[in-house]
Amino acid sequence: MNSPKPLFGDQYAQLPPQLYVKQDATPVAAPSWIKLNAGLAEALQFDTDFLSGDEGLAIFAGNQTAKGTSPLAMAYSGHQFGHWNPKLGDGRALLLGDAADKSGQRFDVQLKGSGPTPFSRNGDGRAALGPVLREYVISEAMHALGVPTTRALAAVQTGEPVRRETALPGAVITRVAKSFVRVGTFQNFAARDDKEALRALVDFSIQRHAPELTDADRPALEFLKKTVLSQAELIAKWQLLGFIHGVMNTDNMSVAGETIDYGPCAFMDEYDPATVFSSIDHHGRYAYQNQPRIAQWNLMVLAQSLLPIIDEDEDQALAFAQDAINLFSGHFETQYRRGLLQKIGIAEEQNGDFELALSLLDQMKDARADFTNSFRAISQLDLAHPEIAAAQLPLTEWINNWRRHTDNGKRVDPTLMFNTNPAFIPRNHRVENMIQAALQDDFSLFEELLSVLTTPFTDQPIHHAYTLPPDPDERVHQTFCGT
Ligand code: AMP
Ligand code: MG
Repeated sequence: MNSPKPLFGDQYAQLPPQLYVKQDATPVAAPSWIKLNAGLAEALQFDTDFLSGDEGLAIFAGNQTAKGTSPLAMAYSGHQFGHWNPKLGDGRALLLGDAADKSGQRFDVQLKGSGPTPFSRNGDGRAALGPVLREYVISEAMHALGVPTTRALAAVQTGEPVRRETALPGAVITRVAKSFVRVGTFQNFAARDDKEALRALVDFSIQRHAPELTDADRPALEFLKKTVLSQAELIAKWQLLGFIHGVMNTDNMSVAGETIDYGPCAFMDEYDPATVFSSIDHHGRYAYQNQPRIAQWNLMVLAQSLLPIIDEDEDQALAFAQDAINLFSGHFETQYRRGLLQKIGIAEEQNGDFELALSLLDQMKDARADFTNSFRAISQLDLAHPEIAAAQLPLTEWINNWRRHTDNGKRVDPTLMFNTNPAFIPRNHRVENMIQAALQDDFSLFEELLSVLTTPFTDQPIHHAYTLPPDPDERVHQTFCGT
C-alpha cells in the first residue's frame, strides 16, 4: 500500500523550469538494502515502516517513483580546478523532493547513482559501492562531529555492475541537504544572463537557510554575506578537525554552508598542512592549508555571479560584493582562533594563548604527530602531574609551557577539550578496510564503523583500535573519486 499523501514536497520543482530537467531514475536489476538511516528518517517525519519496506527499497533504488513526486536533475556549471566548465549539472543525481523536520526546517532529498540524465555527458549516471559507503560513513561522521553536512538517508545495492577500471558492484545513496544549490548553480545562470533564475535561486536559498533575510532590502547582497559567513564557519571546522575535502570546485560548494559531494576526501593522520589526498589533485590546489583561501576564491565567484542582481549600478554592486567577500578572512580567523583555543582547553583568550596553540601545531608538524590523537591525548593529561603524562607524548616541552602559561593549568577546562577533540574520526585505512570487506559482502565493518563514529567524543575502550593511526603498510596515500 502506498502512503496516502505525497512522500515529498516539490519546492524546487516550483522554481522556473530552466533551473532543472525533469527526469526519472533508471530502474535496476536487483535492488537490495544496505541501510536505511532510521534516525534521520524519523527526524524528517517519514513513515519509517513504509520506507524500510519493499516500496522504500524500490524508491531508493530508483525502481519506483514515489507517488505524487516528479524527480529532477538540477542544472549547474562550475570551475573545476580553476577551469570554467559551463555544462555540469546532476549527471548521476536526482532530486526527489523535500521533507521537513519538526522545527519546520525543510530539506531536499536526492538520489545519487540513479542513472543517466541530460547532464551525464559520457558518464553512466551510476555510482560504485565503495564511494557510496565512503560518503555514507564520512558524512554521518561529520554530522556527529558537529560539522554542517549533507547526510545519508539510505544506501542500496543495485544488483548491477558498474564499469570503472574494473567491474564493481553498483549502489545508490540517498542524501539529504538543506539544499543542493551550489556556487556553480548561480554561475550557470549568471553566464546566461538569466536574472529571473538568479533571483529565484536567491529567494529559494533565503527561504531555506536564511529565513531571517526574507524582507531584506537587498536580498542578493544579504544572501551573499550569509553564505560568506557560513562558509567561513564551515572551513574553520574542517581545519580544526583535520578534514580535507579534496575537490573544492565551485560546483562542489554548497550555498547552504554544508559539506557536500564527498569524493576523495579524508582526515589527516599525522599533522602536515601540505597534505593532499586526492589522486586527481596534481598540483595540490586543494591541500589542507589551502582550503580557506580556496573557499574565499569560490565565494568571489559567487559574488561575481550575483553582481547583476545586487545593484543595477555596476560599480555600486562591485563595492557591495567586495565588502561582503572581505568578511571572510576576519570571520574565519575568529572562528578558527576560538576553536583552536578550545582544543587546548581555553575558553577565554588571554595574551599569548593563540601563539601557544600555534606552537603546538608547529611541534606536532616537526614530530609528525597524529593530529587527532595529539589533541585527544592532551585532553586527558592530568595537569597536576604533567611530567608523568607528558613522558608518553613527543610534546613534553610544549606541555610544560602550556601548564606555566595557563596558571598551572587552572585556565584549562578538560571538559571543553573532551567535547572538542574527538577520540574517533573516520580514518582512511579503516574506511578502506570497511569497503574491502563490503566488496566481499561483509557489511559488519560498515555497521561497526558507523556505530563507533556516532559518538566520536566518547571514549569507547572496546573500540580502541579505531583510534590508532595506520601502520606504515596500512597507510592510504591517495583517495579516488570513484566516478
Ligand atoms: P563530481 O566530480 O562527482 O563532483 O562530478 C562532476 C560532474 O560530473 C557532475 O556534473 C556530475 O554529475 C558528473 N558525473 C560524475 N560522475 C558521473 C557519472 N558516473 N555519470 C554521469 N555524470 C557523472
Ligand atoms: Mg560534484
